[in-house]
Amino acid sequence: MQTDPRIFNQEKYLKGVTLSKKKYSQPNEDWDHDHCEFCWNKFAEKDSIPDALHEGFVTEDGNHWVCENCFNDFKESFSWNVANS
Ligand SMILES: [Zn+2]
Repeated sequence: MQTDPRIFNQEKYLKGVTLSKKKYSQPNEDWDHDHCEFCWNKFAEKDSIPDALHEGFVTEDGNHWVCENCFNDFKESFSWNVANS
């Protein structure tokens, strides 16, 4: 798993965590997007950012977003739990 170029140190804070599938909502007025922790695709609430994703998987503290592709690629090696909401 260390050979994937998207992996650097994420297992230190994302291994075994619980993720929820959510629509992206921006934390405040000035902070209008986040990035996937693995591939750096953008998440945004509005259509103002071209190609941005509007939903994905987020940690319980809301600090880390993972896109659907990366979720599927890494869910086994990272032993993620998925919250039912
Ligand atoms: Zn991704």
